[in-house]
Amino acid sequence: MSYSLYLCRFVDGEPAPMDETAIRDVLAALEALAALAAEDGGTADVHGDAHGLTFHRPSPGRVLDLVAELARRTGAVVVPDGRPAILTTEADRRHLPENLRAEAIVVPPPALTGQAVSLAIAPQPEPRQRPILPRFPYHPNPVATGSVAASDEPCVCCRQERGWVYTGPVYAADAPDAGICPYCIASGTAAERYDASFADTVEGDVPRDVVMAVLTRTPGFTAWQSPYWLTHCGDGAAFLGPAGSKELAAYPDAVDHLRRQCAAWKWPPDQVEDFLDSLDKDGGPTAYLFRCRVCETRLAYADFT
Ligand SMILES: [Zn+2]
Ligand SMILES: [Zn+2]
Repeated sequence: MSYSLYLCRFVDGEPAPMDETAIRDVLAALEALAALAAEDGGTADVHGDAHGLTFHRPSPGRVLDLVAELARRTGAVVVPDGRPAILTTEADRRHLPENLRAEAIVVPPPALTGQAVSLAIAPQPEPRQRPILPRFPYHPNPVATGSVAASDEPCVCCRQERGWVYTGPVYAADAPDAGICPYCIASGTAAERYDASFADTVEGDVPRDVVMAVLTRTPGFTAWQSPYWLTHCGDGAAFLGPAGSKELAAYPDAVDHLRRQCAAWKWPPDQVEDFLDSLDKDGGPTAYLFRCRVCETRLAYADFT
């Protein structure tokens, strides 16, 4: 990052001299830093005089500590390129040139460290308020499960920039495999337009409208094999996310459920336990955790590559 800091004391909007001793001390320390190639390699090009010093490309660490020290000792204002000026006291605001006055921030001397300067000059990420997601009864938090992600791209289906994009699988003969927003899933628009579903199958016996809601109006999830949706108490279960043995430790009912499935594979018991121990959220084999929407029982199934 290339930027510069300007250090200056202002009186009634005009530069006023800074304490020369403090400047000499700091410049000497800077020279020593450069000569010694300080532990953090800190250097800066410094130009100016007691009426104003410019630090070009100050490296973080020790150099910013010295900038902060100089500001503390001389009462100077730190003016970073394109960022609000840093005052050490509110009383100095009225002395600033008009264009710096409104935005300047106050950092009292004890808090004015190199770290504080560094934070003040760091590029600020634009905070972006993303809209609230539609409610998905069968997939209550698709951001946490990794099926919906923040995005600034317009949706391929509704062409609107919704702030979110679905990242799970799309099952359709002819559909974009990425770029659908969760609102187009919730409304059923995407499923209808592309004749698509977002999960492959629903396990068990549940009413047809539940099957349709799960397959066509619920964000799916990525699994090693074609994912399927678990059901319980006559309803689709709520998907809670991929899980490994660590995540499952809190849900013995889900582990029991898995154990029973493994038994059906006719594995010897120690092989079943090894398998359960080896479950991993990010690498196969992976379990997929659900919660019954009626009785709250946790359910899971597992797959692998
Ligand atoms: Zn959309
Ligand atoms: Zn249940």
